[in-house]
Amino acid sequence: MALTGIQILKMLPKKNCGECNIPTCLAFAMKVAAGQVEVGECPYVSDEAKDSIGEASAPPIRTVAIGAGDDKFTTGGETCLYRHEKRFENQTGIAVRVTTDMSDADVDGRVERFNTLQYDRVGVNMKAELIAIADTAGDQAKFTALTEKVLAGAPGAAIILMTEDADAMGAAAKLCGDRMPLLFGATDANVDAMAGVAKDTGCALGCKGSNIDNLVDVSEKAMAAGVKDLVIDTGARTLRAAFEDNIVARRSAVNAKYKPLGFPTIVFPCEMTDDPMMEAMIASVVMAKYAGIIVLDDLQGEILFPLLLEQLNIFTDPQRPMVVQEDVYPINGPDADSPVLITCNFSLTYFIVSGEIEGSGVPSHLLIKDTEGLSVLTAWAAGKFGADLIAAFMKKAGIKDKVNHSELIIPGYLASMKGELEEELPEWTITIGPREAGHLPAFLKEWKPAA
Ligand code: SF4
Repeated sequence: MALTGIQILKMLPKKNCGECNIPTCLAFAMKVAAGQVEVGECPYVSDEAKDSIGEASAPPIRTVAIGAGDDKFTTGGETCLYRHEKRFENQTGIAVRVTTDMSDADVDGRVERFNTLQYDRVGVNMKAELIAIADTAGDQAKFTALTEKVLAGAPGAAIILMTEDADAMGAAAKLCGDRMPLLFGATDANVDAMAGVAKDTGCALGCKGSNIDNLVDVSEKAMAAGVKDLVIDTGARTLRAAFEDNIVARRSAVNAKYKPLGFPTIVFPCEMTDDPMMEAMIASVVMAKYAGIIVLDDLQGEILFPLLLEQLNIFTDPQRPMVVQEDVYPINGPDADSPVLITCNFSLTYFIVSGEIEGSGVPSHLLIKDTEGLSVLTAWAAGKFGADLIAAFMKKAGIKDKVNHSELIIPGYLASMKGELEEELPEWTITIGPREAGHLPAFLKEWKPAA
């Protein structure tokens, strides 16, 4: 049961010193209860209190890290069933699988696609994060050789080692060094040996059941052996079973605080079908329903990109709008004769508008007004994109000193604001731009400053 802010406050030193960057212990306790700060931020809290608070405020789905440094992949940490209740914390990781039965060319192709299929959208670099190396041949020498090859070929990949042979796992994990792979392959038959490898290396352990009940046995044994970081696989190899099991596991962990299932799940669409489109469909379903990691047979742009977009949609925080900073953004190297446009700081709007301007090739000054992440019309209706605020921002931004003309292009949807803006900015000519960003290139190519 999660602790309340008042219960947490009772365990704090109550110095009200502000060294945690929060002015009072009460405010700090409230933030710990809300999961917004870690109790360890208070330098004076006792170890005993830290343990009690940390245990009680830990998320029902444990946070598990795979990899190290900039390319560390984090999964789990979830606290709710539905995104609108709070938010989903860590996005589903997309992995591509290579196996010891594949030819060198097949492995190299997958590694190359892993490295190159990356997309920058709305300021986010979207890509697959993990490579799963599977010992399908049951040959330790081949497994370690494949592991070496992938480690060298994909320095940015978080690694999943897949074998049920504890000796082979130990040897491959040693090769990985500080890349801290997920060791996937603890079953009823080998869980003690696999737990030993996980404890020796400090890596997370993947537990696999023949069904969800069997998985509970395996994860209980792994926990009893002292392994804290688990990733769980119910053994489901059909869409329906994987969908059901993921929901059962999440509900058990979040609603009933059932620890054996309180870990991120790993799902294998690559083992459910040979049809790439069906595989993508399965991946899209389990991504929406709680998969911590999905493992694909291959990466192709037409499969990966839609999954990355789905990932972006599900794992943005619904309570925090995506914004860009208020500023004047130069696009295509503008000078004093270049057009001046203004729009809101909702990041989707910014990236669409700036992308169209960039694509037009017309040097431009793009003013981004802070509208608290609201889109143009919503911001205007909420009083955050009014003529007086735009005028104040224009002065603060000093745009008048950057151009030889006095023409401001406003979004087409704000046409009704033209009169008010002319009153607030009497020295400027207000021009109504197109309603749709897609029409900006043609508009800008024709643009000439008002006489
Ligand atoms: S650092 Fe600790 S004692 Fe000081 S205000 Fe924060 S919670 Fe209270």
